[in-house]
Formats: sequence, C-alpha cells, structure tokens
Amino acid sequence: MTQANIMNLLKRLRREFKLSYIFITHDLALASELADKVLVLYAGKVAEFGSADLIYTEPKHPYTQGLMSSIPTLREDKKLSFIPGEVPSLINPPSGCRFHPRCPYAMDICRREEPPLIALDNGHKVACWLYSK
Ligand code: SF4
Repeated sequence: MTQANIMNLLKRLRREFKLSYIFITHDLALASELADKVLVLYAGKVAEFGSADLIYTEPKHPYTQGLMSSIPTLREDKKLSFIPGEVPSLINPPSGCRFHPRCPYAMDICRREEPPLIALDNGHKVACWLYSK
C-alpha cells in the first residue's frame, strides 16, 4: 500500500512539474511503472540499455533475460526461473564479462575479454559477445 502510494505520488509530481527521474531499483516490475528507458547494470557494468518497452518484451542480455523470467505475473501461468550462482565480489570481479560464471551462454571469449557495448538495429545497446559481428 505504501509502495503504491509512493509510486502514485511520483507519477503525479512528474506530470505536474514535467520532471525526469533516475529511478534506481532491484525491482524491474516496479521500474516498469515509471520508466521510459531502462539501463540494466550487473556488478557495476552496463549490461543493456534501451527503451523500457523493448527491454521488457525483448530483453537481449542473458542477465536481463534471467531477471525478466524470474518476475511472477498474474496474467501468465509461467514457470519462474532463477539465475544460478551469486553476485561476484567487486573487489575481485571475474575476468572478461563479469556475468560469465552465471551465464548459460558463456564462451571462451567471455572469460577473457570484457564485451563492448554493442548497438543493435532497434536502438538498444547490449554488452554481450553474443551480438558481436
Ligand atoms: S558476454 Fe558471454 S558471458 Fe557475458 S552475457 Fe554475453 S554470452 Fe554471457
């Protein structure tokens, strides 16, 4: 109830004062209520950036895909999944892509080299070797 009231207040203030917000959360479902654009971070690095519509309907980065498939919905009877493993230490992060120890698609290059932020045709940017040409 408190969360719903706060979200309604934020929406009203945005409308009345034509505000922009930077809304930092672990709750993607909550962010979907406010966000026009979403930037997904993993272990301090940008994983994916783009319009909220596309991030929610067509997530590209394996981490974003994992997050989205772990959100329960009332409308669909979908099986919830989870991302195995733990968030790495930022003092000694994994080499290459920081998500590689938990990624189901990890390749050799992922363990060696940090992926660049790759621009996709739909305007999204994703830091993942799967999208490198
Ligand atoms: S770069 Fe490799 S390890 Fe990282 S998310 Fe993409 S496929 Fe997975």
